[in-house]
Amino acid sequence: MDFRQLFHKIRNRITKIRLEPIRVFCFHQVSDKFDESTMWKCDWMSIVDFKEKIIALQEKYMFISLSEANQKLENDTFRSKKYAVLTMDDAGNCIVDLMPWLAERNIPITLFLPYSFITREKTEHKCGISLTEVQLNDLLQRYPELVTIANHGFNHNSAYEVSIEELVSDIERNEKALKKYVSKIPFYAYPGGHHTSKTDAVVYKMGFTPVYCDGGVNYNDCNFIHRELL
Ligand SMILES: [Zn+2]
Repeated sequence: MDFRQLFHKIRNRITKIRLEPIRVFCFHQVSDKFDESTMWKCDWMSIVDFKEKIIALQEKYMFISLSEANQKLENDTFRSKKYAVLTMDDAGNCIVDLMPWLAERNIPITLFLPYSFITREKTEHKCGISLTEVQLNDLLQRYPELVTIANHGFNHNSAYEVSIEELVSDIERNEKALKKYVSKIPFYAYPGGHHTSKTDAVVYKMGFTPVYCDGGVNYNDCNFIHRELL
């Protein structure tokens, strides 16, 4: 074997065992038609677009749960497979119609829930029609292996608009509401993706992994989850 062949052999070996980043995707509202009275255009996607994007991603990536991804980011020494994670923010009831299709494709999902949307205490945030408690219970019972839920603040407060104390009490209030569900996992997605290093430290101390929506991908060396919009 000459030097060139040896070089290529070593390069291929290294390429195979490198740590692939894990991509985490976020979406909000998926429906047949855009309804401006209940939705924001920037948060909306048609069912056709949604399915096309998921199918294209599944050709390249294996979808795993957020918890599994987090474990991999903490423990993997080598990772040659390409993994992706799907998450949905804001409790839109479109997930009721999407879930049978996602389940057929064995795709897990984490729902970041602001509980005031489910109880209808906060209605000014446009994200389609929110899940009801009955629908949420039904989803969690039907898909215990695939659906997990996590914290998105009770009132969906932006970390830029409230004090640290208010942010903490809002997260705690949401956690209290989600406590009854066994599918709850310890992650906190910042509403609007708004965060500072100060809020990160507090959220981390509360026992949550902070979750952004900053367009980044995840390598092993971070304590946060970066997300991209689907
Ligand atoms: Zn949100």
